[in-house]
Amino acid sequence: MREDSELIARGLPLEPDRPAVEAMGRAVLGRVAAYAESAAHAPASHPAEKGPALDDLLRPPPEGPGDLDALLDVFDGAARQGVDTSSPGYLAYFPAGGLVSSALGELLAQIYNRFTGVADLAPALVAMEHGVLRWLCEEFALPPGSVGITTTGGSMATLSALVAARHDRLGDAIASGTLYATEHTHFCVERAARIAGLPDSRLRIVPTSGLRMDPSAARDMIRADRARGLRPFLLVGTAGSTSTGTIDPLPELAALARAEDLWFHVDAAYGGGFQLTRRGRARMAGIEHADSIVLDPHKSLFLQYGTGVLLVRNAGALARAHRGGGHYVQDVRAVGDLPDYGYLGAELTRDFRGLRLWLPLHLHGVAAFRAALDEKLDLARHAHADLADDPLLDVPWEPDLTVVTFRMRGGEEPTLRLLERVNATGRIFVSSTRVEDRLLLRINPTSHRTRADHLQRALALIHEQARKSVSTTLDDHR
Ligand SMILES: *Cc1c(COP(=O)(O)O)cnc(C)c1O
Repeated sequence: MREDSELIARGLPLEPDRPAVEAMGRAVLGRVAAYAESAAHAPASHPAEKGPALDDLLRPPPEGPGDLDALLDVFDGAARQGVDTSSPGYLAYFPAGGLVSSALGELLAQIYNRFTGVADLAPALVAMEHGVLRWLCEEFALPPGSVGITTTGGSMATLSALVAARHDRLGDAIASGTLYATEHTHFCVERAARIAGLPDSRLRIVPTSGLRMDPSAARDMIRADRARGLRPFLLVGTAGSTSTGTIDPLPELAALARAEDLWFHVDAAYGGGFQLTRRGRARMAGIEHADSIVLDPHKSLFLQYGTGVLLVRNAGALARAHRGGGHYVQDVRAVGDLPDYGYLGAELTRDFRGLRLWLPLHLHGVAAFRAALDEKLDLARHAHADLADDPLLDVPWEPDLTVVTFRMRGGEEPTLRLLERVNATGRIFVSSTRVEDRLLLRINPTSHRTRADHLQRALALIHEQARKSVSTTLDDHR
């Protein structure tokens, strides 16, 4: 170790020599391996007072060199503050865990640092990314002529989908366009519409029945708007809503969009990964009719944060909405049918996100993903049945995918108390939502790290805290 720090010190010019790189790599990869080993038992949250003081971390960087090990200690301490979203006990929002293989791929991609915004500069790397995205198009049964891009997440993918729909269906007549979603649609749709220049008043909230968009209500609203001289252009279905994981009636919505000539977008940011499973595919049937699909590999393909995907049926529509150029890129040539990603999305320069998908899919094989996702569907079913058996809990809906919602019988106050008690243990982390004016807790055992034994312990903890919260309520009244 001592020797390593001497080697690293020699590497402190911006371009270190090989022994210095190796020593730095040992320091970093040693921690990677230790973290990966400990992750299966990591707590879901850490007490704030344990980590480094925030004031220390706010200090500006020094003029002189630092000590790598000490700096990595700072990072490690900082990462042990707050909520540990990589932990198997993290059941809130959308856990993903983060595959080590993907992160190592990312490290390589960053070290090589090739420019993949145009195929001309890195045709083979672009082909690797394109191969994965083309395969995803096939998994969703999109026809030839469809294309995929990677983004930093669902929100950015949604923005590009919305801009493509707007450009394709409205041209310059933006002001009269109307779009259709439900109260359960993720807010990124409304935000994307606003960024894309559509006033908030153009977003129609279609009534739901059983948490799902009511297609006939949507049809009536579309026709009423058209009769008023407006231009309905976009219908948004959700395949796995954020609060409850519910899937809209996609076949009916697809038929409606086709009949009324609207762009049909499906937000499968969370649900999309389950398309790799037989059950998920059956539940999301109809998604193959979408004009655009958003999925988040950083949700249901277990990848690190920062990886979203947009698939678009008509590659030309995406390209026309995101076209660009200038004399400074006049040397760039097209390479066969390879996409120029810099002209298909909002980013020109981008990191090579392809490898973080390509490496784990090729290394573990797709079957490993299908099996892990199947396991998550089983875990959610089990969690639903197990929680429903508890007389203290009310479990309103069967999960469509892996989001399981529940609450304490007796209303909001006990439910909030249960949330606080469960999260205060630090062993698991759960979040809440409000649906049909009811406060609900939700767990989502979707991390690749959350296995049956973790879930069993999490459920036991929820039952135990529910019991305790009832008995302390009684004590309070004594
Ligand atoms: C998470 C989520 C989004 C937003 O995706 P980000 O990757 O967080 O930007 C959009 N839609 C749905 C249904 C989601 O669950």
